[in-house]
Amino acid sequence: MAAPRRRWGWRSLGGKLFVSYLVVIVVSIVTLLLIARFVAFTFFISQMGHMGSGEMMPPFMRPGGAPDPELASAFRTVLTRVLLVAAGVAALIAAGASLVVTARLVGPIRRLVAASQRLAAGHYAERVPPGPDDELGDLAASFNELAASLEATERRRLELIGDVAHELRTPVATLEGYLEGLLDGVVAPSERTWAKLHDEAGRLRRLIDDLQDLSRAEAKQIPLHPAAVAPGELVRAAVERLAGQFEEKGLALTSEVADRLPPVWADRDRAVQVLTNLLVNALRYTPSPGSVRVAARPGGDAVRFVVSDTGIGIAAEHLPHLFERFYRVDKSRGRALGGSGVGLAIARALVETMGGRIWAESPGPGQGACFSFTLPAAR
Ligand code: ADP
Repeated sequence: MAAPRRRWGWRSLGGKLFVSYLVVIVVSIVTLLLIARFVAFTFFISQMGHMGSGEMMPPFMRPGGAPDPELASAFRTVLTRVLLVAAGVAALIAAGASLVVTARLVGPIRRLVAASQRLAAGHYAERVPPGPDDELGDLAASFNELAASLEATERRRLELIGDVAHELRTPVATLEGYLEGLLDGVVAPSERTWAKLHDEAGRLRRLIDDLQDLSRAEAKQIPLHPAAVAPGELVRAAVERLAGQFEEKGLALTSEVADRLPPVWADRDRAVQVLTNLLVNALRYTPSPGSVRVAARPGGDAVRFVVSDTGIGIAAEHLPHLFERFYRVDKSRGRALGGSGVGLAIARALVETMGGRIWAESPGPGQGACFSFTLPAAR
């Protein structure tokens, strides 16, 4: 990247400002001189005329009332000299003052230019000192905000790459192990082996699908088609989708929709996806025998959807982190149960894009968990 050119002389911002100050000073002095030359003596005579009284004629007046021409000329010469001296001093003071102002203005701008160049070169920790309480200060504050947001984005990008590499390593290593075993004849090419390979490939595909969903949801690029939807319809659709799996595992799944709930303003498919996701988690983390309840309740200007289970529960310190991507309370258990670790992050991105909020509660390990989210009521 090209370094900013350091300009000197009249082409620099400081030079241009200095010249503009000088032009104003010169124009003011010339105007003052012209006005003084043509009208000051007339004003002087008129003022002195007021001072003369009765028959007495002021000494510089000729009989007949005209001013003495020699006196007029001397007056103008003295006045011009005085004004020229004053103008010279004023120009010097103004030039000095303009240099100070220019330096104060150009210094922060140069610092900003240098900092933005370093930022563009990838030094995201770059910040400039806060400026004065004016537009330059605002510019410095905006620059620092921009740098902070770029730094956060870069940090997230690096974390994501690290997390994805880590998540891919396990299924790929398992696949590799089985394939090597098959090649060496250590693993028998049985139905069980093919099923295991198929499982691992499926896990990889799910992870890739989830990652794609997550990146689109976080970038708010999932096209949403919001409409007024009855909360009961969303609950019914999610329950129907998973009823079979709950039955298979021997878990009771019940639903409850409060009376007279307003319709919600949401994308039907995405709202069902969030509910389904919470229900799949409840299914995954609730041992049999147990029960899971899904409910829709009033919540001010919104409708609150709640999925509660009698499962393994969550310790308080994990609650605030559950919606971060790849956060798992128990890493090996989450992975073994087939979770990709991004389900709740996708759910949060979707709910927030639809104007709602999502959170988790739990009395503690072994005491079940309760996940809630809101969707705004349709007006
Ligand atoms: P995963 O695919 O691992 O389930 P999620 O993003 O859906 O990832 O969930 C993140 C973590 O939150 C899980 O690994 C699990 O530790 C915890 N979790 C989610 N739902 C529940 C639940 N109903 N009960 C207990 N823990 C849960």
